[in-house]
Amino acid sequence: MDDLADVYNDLIMEHSMNSYNKKHLNNPDFCEIGHNPNCGDEITLELKLNGDIIEDLSFTGHGCAISQASTSIMIDTLRGKTVKEAKEIIATFIGMIKREITDEEDLKKLEDAIAFRNVSHMPARVKCALLAWHTIEDILNKNEK
Ligand code: ZN
Repeated sequence: MDDLADVYNDLIMEHSMNSYNKKHLNNPDFCEIGHNPNCGDEITLELKLNGDIIEDLSFTGHGCAISQASTSIMIDTLRGKTVKEAKEIIATFIGMIKREITDEEDLKKLEDAIAFRNVSHMPARVKCALLAWHTIEDILNKNEK
């Protein structure tokens, strides 16, 4: 099996090359930088809350195809979700990449982000895939304080 072809599927390529989520928001409530020195990935996530709902998200920055696509697909997945739903999805994604969550029913809540499943077999790419997800975790934890 060709691991690379397996990981860099169409969805990931599409989001890494030309993401409509790569932009600035008007008056974001949160702005957080995520950095992965192993690969040189650096993103800035912007987030706008409306009460308990994640109204909008966007990102800027640069990095490898996996980090950029993971950020963009995460944004699509979490936009419109409640903070509680988002936290469950984030925990599931991290669990999937760490191979701690493998149950198909659990993984369904990831929607398109399930495309990163095979990254769990590529240790060098794991931090790239998790960068945006850890960054938004930081934002949501700050929001609780
Ligand atoms: Zn990377």
